[in-house]
Amino acid sequence: MSVKIEYHKFDVVVVGAGGAGLNAAQVASQYCKTAVISEVYPTRSHTISAQGGISAALGNLEEDHWHWHMYDTVKGSDYLCDQDAAEYMTKQAPEMIIALEHIGLPFSRTPEGKIAQRPFGGHTAEFGKRAVKRACYAADRTGHAMLQTLYEKSVAQGTHFYSEFYALELLVNDGAVNGVLCFDIQNGELHIFNAKAVVFATGGNCRIFQTNSNAHINTGDGLALAMRKGFSWSDAEFFQFHPTGIYGAGNLITEGVRGEGGILLNAQGERFMERYAPTIKDLAPRDIVSRSMTKEVLEGRGVGQFKDHTLLKIDHIGAANIMEKLPGIHELALVFAGVDCTKEPIPVNPTAHYQNGGIPTGYLSQVIKGNMEKEEFVPGFFAAGECASASVHGANRLGTNSLLDLVVFGRTAGEQAAKYAMANSIVSLKDDAGSEGLANLQKYANANGKYTFGEIWGELTRTMQTKMGVFRTEKLMKECYSTLLELEAKMDDYRVNDKSSVYNLDLIEALELNNMILVAKACTQAAILRKESRGGHFRDDYPDRDDVNFLKHTEVYLEEDCKTPRVDYRKVRLQPLTVETFPPKARVY
Ligand SMILES: Cc1cc2nc3c(=O)[nH]c(=O)nc-3n(C[C@H](O)[C@H](O)[C@H](O)COP(=O)(O)OP(=O)(O)OC[C@H]3O[C@@H](n4cnc5c(N)ncnc54)[C@H](O)[C@@H]3O)c2cc1C
Repeated sequence: MSVKIEYHKFDVVVVGAGGAGLNAAQVASQYCKTAVISEVYPTRSHTISAQGGISAALGNLEEDHWHWHMYDTVKGSDYLCDQDAAEYMTKQAPEMIIALEHIGLPFSRTPEGKIAQRPFGGHTAEFGKRAVKRACYAADRTGHAMLQTLYEKSVAQGTHFYSEFYALELLVNDGAVNGVLCFDIQNGELHIFNAKAVVFATGGNCRIFQTNSNAHINTGDGLALAMRKGFSWSDAEFFQFHPTGIYGAGNLITEGVRGEGGILLNAQGERFMERYAPTIKDLAPRDIVSRSMTKEVLEGRGVGQFKDHTLLKIDHIGAANIMEKLPGIHELALVFAGVDCTKEPIPVNPTAHYQNGGIPTGYLSQVIKGNMEKEEFVPGFFAAGECASASVHGANRLGTNSLLDLVVFGRTAGEQAAKYAMANSIVSLKDDAGSEGLANLQKYANANGKYTFGEIWGELTRTMQTKMGVFRTEKLMKECYSTLLELEAKMDDYRVNDKSSVYNLDLIEALELNNMILVAKACTQAAILRKESRGGHFRDDYPDRDDVNFLKHTEVYLEEDCKTPRVDYRKVRLQPLTVETFPPKARVY
């Protein structure tokens, strides 16, 4: 493998071409020379598969206010979100939707031509009194519509794209982030991007679980790269298990199905959510629905040969309605469950769906390095989207709040990175810039040991699913951690069969697996030390929330060895940006 490196200089480099990365890029490109680096062609990023919608208190179908949206977001987060960020996001949401509409996002419409809205889990009117129609959507392909629109806009703004480039190392000089080392998957060549500002938008990491709804790229690379350079992963222990993954496959059946009237049934044909959440029933927040489903199964009321799942019934809303509003779901159920959902229920199980925490940022998307005593912004480093944590989701994200997070904080990251780039000169590269990433690449390119991807990845994901899943205990998580250490050791005796430099996905998988083991260790360690239950982190041995000891963000750093997680904490920002009286002054859109 050649070690010739090609050098590039940009004002802003965005790593990741999902909704967050593309919105950051199209904004930054309006001000300065901006590049996007993506492991896959931009429109293959995971955002493409988002189905149900994007939240905003537009109030197109019934009265709604951003205050109610903010209240739901804070409550849904189990009070772990930063309230300045929650205010920033929910307040900007209506304007953001209009901005997306103006650049061409084809939203579904009401008969009068307004943007259509549907109810979604945890979104309520009048501070929790009743469900409200807040999710704007483009049929059940909202992410698809969004990503295509943002990609076209980025191209029109003159963004430079480096597709199928894999980021190997984040470059830092004297505390300032100044670039990225990348590998061109197409031909194995190396590139260093030296930039005034770097935006990470690398998406989530739920591929570390066996049953998950995520794309192949969602392996936590961004987190691993940032942690290796001394930055932290905030609230690492909180994952969201989406209640309705297709049984056996994991593909997502959007909550929009329940928004349109779908209900969950157990083996007795009982609509069991009436028992667990009498007011909002099947539209309760995702952690509650996932745990309720798991409980039904554990208590013997699961369906099927192994009594190990539940059913999602939607046929009662009528075939025409299903085909108009949920055509993608009809197809998914047919292909992956062999079920025609206009006639029969879909077999479902909770599926690992979303990483609630991420690289910590302020509400203006600047990456934070901090602990309980102090916090500081990292020069030149911004993050947005699922890999980041502003933090608006805290311990549990509400459905449709992620697409909103992507575009709001993506835009802010783009603006702030451009502003930073225009005000600062470029930080030069260190003499040995990229040497760590290169050494890691060569380690795997030359790996001729015993273990291959399948064996290690299989054990990793099975272990995470059973020991770090919906219900957790100290004993299970400690067992999980020791298995992860064993897997890590096996990575030193790894084998990459493909020795070519053209589309060597065997090599990329090895690098991703190495990152997945690191992030799995980090979140397991964080989960062991959080001795309470909150949002997506539910412990059988500590079933209650403990605000006295744990109303704080976890920050997982790495020790000097760049392998062992060190868990620290940081204060939750409980103060909103402004204190406005309610109801607010009417806004005209
Ligand atoms: C099936 C599904 C349905 C969903 N539905 C909804 C919904 O209806 N509403 C909602 O609000 N949320 C939804 N979500 C959540 C939401 O879609 C995601 O959180 C969001 O799309 C993540 O976007 P992102 O921009 O952060 O990253 P992604 O879209 O995941 O993109 C990550 C990018 O990073 C790049 N990348 C990663 N690693 C590297 C590397 N090492 N080098 C170079 N590039 C790299 C990839 O190439 C990719 O371009 C859904 C999620 C799933 C999985």
